[in-house]
Amino acid sequence: MHVKSAAGVAFDTEFPIVIIGGGACGLTMALTLRDAGVAVLVLERDPAPAGSTALSSGFIPACATPWQQARGVDDTIDLMAGDIQAQAKDLADPDIVDLCCRHSGPTLEWLTEKHGIPFVLIEGFLYTGQRRLRMHAVPERTGAALMARLLSAVEAVEADILCGAEVCDLYADGDGRVRGVGFRRPDGSEERVGCQALLLACSGFGGNRDMVRRHIPEMAEADYFGHAGNRGDAVLWGKQLGAEIRHMGAYQGHASVAVPHGILITWAVMREGGIQVNAEGRRFADESRGYSEHSVDVLRQPGGAVWDIYDARIHDLAMDFEDYRQAEAAGAVKTAADEAALGRSLGLPEAALGETLALARNWAEGDGQDPFGRRFDDKPVLTPPYYAVKVGASLFHTQGGLAIDTSARVLRRSGAALPNLFAGGGAACGVSGPEVWGYSSGNGLLTAVMLGRVAGESAAALVS
Ligand SMILES: Cc1cc2nc3c(=O)[nH]c(=O)nc-3n(C[C@H](O)[C@H](O)[C@H](O)COP(=O)(O)OP(=O)(O)OC[C@H]3O[C@@H](n4cnc5c(N)ncnc54)[C@H](O)[C@@H]3O)c2cc1C
Repeated sequence: MHVKSAAGVAFDTEFPIVIIGGGACGLTMALTLRDAGVAVLVLERDPAPAGSTALSSGFIPACATPWQQARGVDDTIDLMAGDIQAQAKDLADPDIVDLCCRHSGPTLEWLTEKHGIPFVLIEGFLYTGQRRLRMHAVPERTGAALMARLLSAVEAVEADILCGAEVCDLYADGDGRVRGVGFRRPDGSEERVGCQALLLACSGFGGNRDMVRRHIPEMAEADYFGHAGNRGDAVLWGKQLGAEIRHMGAYQGHASVAVPHGILITWAVMREGGIQVNAEGRRFADESRGYSEHSVDVLRQPGGAVWDIYDARIHDLAMDFEDYRQAEAAGAVKTAADEAALGRSLGLPEAALGETLALARNWAEGDGQDPFGRRFDDKPVLTPPYYAVKVGASLFHTQGGLAIDTSARVLRRSGAALPNLFAGGGAACGVSGPEVWGYSSGNGLLTAVMLGRVAGESAAALVS
């Protein structure tokens, strides 16, 4: 991944705007640009656009939306921004947090009204740190369906997408102005396309083991659950252009991925009163925290695997989630009539497991307090029959990346913007602060969709 001099370089073709990466961010950029009447070429390395977006749950946080209003949810930009910053300990860039929250409602409405992508509000439980119900998804409630709907919309507006096009080189002038890119086709041939502005939507570096080892050592041995083709290219090019890179230690981990099935078990299971125990039958941390920060504690447990334990009420709620239904169909979900049977079936020490469940019951009834600080009196006590899934922790996606301004222009280390380079989604520094504990549920697609929209608008203004 190189930045080369544009001097004397001839391009095979020219587009006003080139976008690298065809996930939620790149496709939102493309839709925005086509609305502005600008021709655009999306270059995607895979045979078909999918990215981490298609692997995701597809939940997008947004405030003051008509879907919230219809359900009587009173949410504001300030509330949403406050929640994101509370999780990030006020270490996320306040201007970018505000930008994303401000754009969240209008952008989902625009996707619906202009591009026919419907949304529903996810109800039934609140994610950690969210004071209002604000997760939205397409009716199928999967990232794959979100991608399919975005792709149909992009096809309808006749944006050009070239798949099997792995961008390797950027061609730039001495002042950092990008003149075009070079990409490799599956047969090994290389082509060059010139542009007036370049939009980076090629996500983070979760698929680059060396970068993960260097910037997120605690996740070096964890499974990476995101898109393997996200190899940190935006950061590698940005560095060569003198761009400011921020918060490379930030990421979304997840503390509940079924072992060995590799299927996400919704964190609603914990939010609704489930607990996690390790191989000794003991709890080890406060499960009411976010699944991202909790993932580091799961990795530290013997064997790196633990058990989600919950009951029929929570199981019924989880059955609303496609991933969970898949996990059940794959045999990941175990049931047991009582505590003793649960211990036997999971191979956990029965006495310790019984004690763990009894303590949780006592704390729920006001007798004593959890040493990890979790409240147990705000959800119904777990009652038999019990349900359990063996889970491990994974790295989902990285949140560090290129620093941008409120026009999504990539910033130099001096603080000035590069002339015609924009970034969004996993390519840009996110809104989670510098470390894992700062990730709020939904920060991934929030920055993919909203910064994609902002970058598209800014780039359209630059070339029109
Ligand atoms: C299991 C899972 C569940 C998740 N659930 C949620 C959720 O519910 N809500 C949420 O907010 N976030 C969620 N996330 C995170 C979310 O998926 C990502 O933050 C988001 O999809 C990033 O979007 P993007 O467009 O930036 O990147 P992507 O969707 O990953 O797209 C990037 C694209 O760039 C392409 N690319 C990369 N390099 C090049 C190159 N050199 N040349 C050409 N193409 C290139 C890739 O092939 C890829 O298609 C989840 C993640 C995972 C793994």
